[in-house]
Amino acid sequence: MRIACGQQSLDESDGLAVSAALRSGWLTTGPEVERFEAAVAGYVGARFGVAVNSGTAALHAMMHALDIQPGDEVVVPSITFAATANCVAFQGGRPVFADVLPDTLLMDPASVERCIGSRTKAVIAVDYAGQAADYPALDEIARSRGLTLLADGCHALGASLHGRRVGTLARMTSFSFHPVKAITTGEGGMVTTDDEGLAQRMRKFRCHCMDRDYKSREEDGSWRYDIVDLGYNYRLSDMQCALGISQLKRLARFLEKRRALAKRYDVALAGNKHIKPLLSHDDAAHARHLYVVRFPGEAGGANRDAAYAMLRAAGVGVNVHYSPVHLFSFYRRAFGTAAGLCPVAEDAATRILTLPLHPGMAESDVDEVVSLLSEQRWRD
Ligand SMILES: *Cc1c(COP(=O)(O)O)cnc(C)c1O
Repeated sequence: MRIACGQQSLDESDGLAVSAALRSGWLTTGPEVERFEAAVAGYVGARFGVAVNSGTAALHAMMHALDIQPGDEVVVPSITFAATANCVAFQGGRPVFADVLPDTLLMDPASVERCIGSRTKAVIAVDYAGQAADYPALDEIARSRGLTLLADGCHALGASLHGRRVGTLARMTSFSFHPVKAITTGEGGMVTTDDEGLAQRMRKFRCHCMDRDYKSREEDGSWRYDIVDLGYNYRLSDMQCALGISQLKRLARFLEKRRALAKRYDVALAGNKHIKPLLSHDDAAHARHLYVVRFPGEAGGANRDAAYAMLRAAGVGVNVHYSPVHLFSFYRRAFGTAAGLCPVAEDAATRILTLPLHPGMAESDVDEVVSLLSEQRWRD
């Protein structure tokens, strides 16, 4: 694609950071891991960060830390990346799909309430497109029903709500450092939390649930360890963490650029009756991971499909985030979900389109996308 939908922004300093880590002799778990954890936790304002090798592993670690078991239910929004629901299934639990709000595609608190039953253990909010979910309402529901509120913040490093950053708004929050996300480590993820016990559980989980890590074995000179539970190799390497630290230094600039480009789309599309940007409650607090527009009206679905084909043919990377998770064949088969479960999500999925947005884009790229959209004839 001539204009990518999402893309990493790397520079010389990133290369220098990685090659310094390569020369340090550590490669995998070493000093950069703790430095990166402290840097991300410090940035969001959480006490602890636990680095893992993907956002999916971060979500899985949260499920393990909460001790989600077969038969347990966890409420997730239907419009999200499948990993939000998969992490529940990894533990043998059942994801229960809540509908979303039509103007933001954020989880609808009223729908969450209807999804809660006697087996519900937790709710995972998703900060869709980079905008914080309605944490005050979700927190109220979780508290009154004795549930744990968690966050999939994979879109939202740098987003905030009422002055508090995503990463501190739920008991645990997952982040992803995949190349299209706010900062990258190639592949990578992290969980932030204020709870030391949960952080310790996740640190063990990422290394086979050994009761002692390499450091404590080194310190007392003993080779002995116990495997206390079923764990995984979810470790993030030292060189990846060095890249993450270098990237985090530029996060403020990345966010500034994303917000400026989103603003330019907003201004250019204002008043367009065929193409409506999603609602953002607070531009300054939005991490602008995705720029999503809706095609309203009866012909909206056909217009979306036409826009997708036209832009792809013109070399513009567009995408749909996301197909409702409950309609994928795996979920239908494993959990008996079907069309009609989340009507707002199902309707939205036919009429949304994600336009290119990443820090390496020029303002002229935005102008080009908008001009291609305005040349197209839309159906009423
Ligand atoms: C990217 C993403 C994930 C998964 O992250 P990976 O690092 O790709 O495993 C999970 N949830 C959401 C909402 C995401 O966007």
